[in-house]
Amino acid sequence: MKTKVRIWTNVFIFFLLIFSVNSIQDSNPSNNILNLSVTVIQTKNITMVYRPVDDISLNDFTQTRLNYENFTLKTFPVQDNGLIVNATFSKISVPDNSILTDRQLGDLLDDLQTKADLAGSQYIIGIVRADWIQDRLNKSATGLMSHDYRGVSLAEAGQIKTSTHELSHHKPFILCEEYSDTGWEKLDNKTGFQCPNGDDPDIAGRQLKTACSQNVGENDGCRTNTFAKLYQFDEINDTTTLYNFMGGADNPNVDGFRSWISNETYDVLLGELSGTKKRGLLSIIIRWYHFENGTSEFKNAYVTENLFESTQSEFLVTDGNYTIRTLNDTNVTQNITYDVFFEILYEGGVLEPTSVVAKSVILPYSDNVNNPQSEIGGILELGGIA
Ligand SMILES: [Zn+2]
Repeated sequence: MKTKVRIWTNVFIFFLLIFSVNSIQDSNPSNNILNLSVTVIQTKNITMVYRPVDDISLNDFTQTRLNYENFTLKTFPVQDNGLIVNATFSKISVPDNSILTDRQLGDLLDDLQTKADLAGSQYIIGIVRADWIQDRLNKSATGLMSHDYRGVSLAEAGQIKTSTHELSHHKPFILCEEYSDTGWEKLDNKTGFQCPNGDDPDIAGRQLKTACSQNVGENDGCRTNTFAKLYQFDEINDTTTLYNFMGGADNPNVDGFRSWISNETYDVLLGELSGTKKRGLLSIIIRWYHFENGTSEFKNAYVTENLFESTQSEFLVTDGNYTIRTLNDTNVTQNITYDVFFEILYEGGVLEPTSVVAKSVILPYSDNVNNPQSEIGGILELGGIA
């Protein structure tokens, strides 16, 4: 008799690819009746910059960066060398007044975005010392991101999974909070956005599975498990209770509570990790501010070489109020539509308004582009930069 096993095949083969030294041992070669049907999936790499921000110590940055890198590598469906890391110890400074203004926070996030762009990376994690978000932003959280910035997150030292959690909020993954119904619904209800994780299929309409938010406390995520032999991370074993990393911070007060990745999240990530970006020979970076009162302000623009160009797919909303176009003599050569949310997502489930966001795009720039113009909602004219 042959048994055909199809369950988990995608995940299974991928773990085998990642942890090739941990291939399953056959303890009884005389009964070889298992017929595995597998699908090999190639995933694209994730490119990530880690940068220290403000007054974090070199030791804290180094340790935290390794922890973050290690957790992302172990949980994301990328190959062993599929997380391309660019880490530099050069600190990004912020103004030294006590609480940053919305504009100063916008400048920091924009600065990080540009650092990622110049490094040719999709994502960047600014790492700050523990309690920095409380001290400098007056918010109780260990990490933050904003859908107004394509690839930027901030995460504090002393955490394990925060950067992976914040990264997963970004396009193309757009995963949602699993530690509270309200946190999940805030994102699920956003225009142009629907949570790919956590929806209860047994309940009509959209609702987070109650099992995800009601496990042991406020920091829950959806329960998960994996093959014990494949944990290979920080003493996780088969008695450890695991929760998906889209829950809140790990809770050291609950014995055995650990973050890992759920099958559902893994499937979402695997499904999104495909496609390529185009690298232009010569590009123009354009940076500007949007203010919540409807005005905009040009920041700067410069031409540089060999960067990855912005694409529509990086933006959450494709039918928004703002459009960026480049034109040559006869055609629109680039057309990106987006919207601005004016909000920061702090871990802990708090979505806070902000009065200003800084935006940037990278557009192709060549002699064929005659006087590249960017039309941003008809409000800000950036034409004539050439
Ligand atoms: Zn979150």
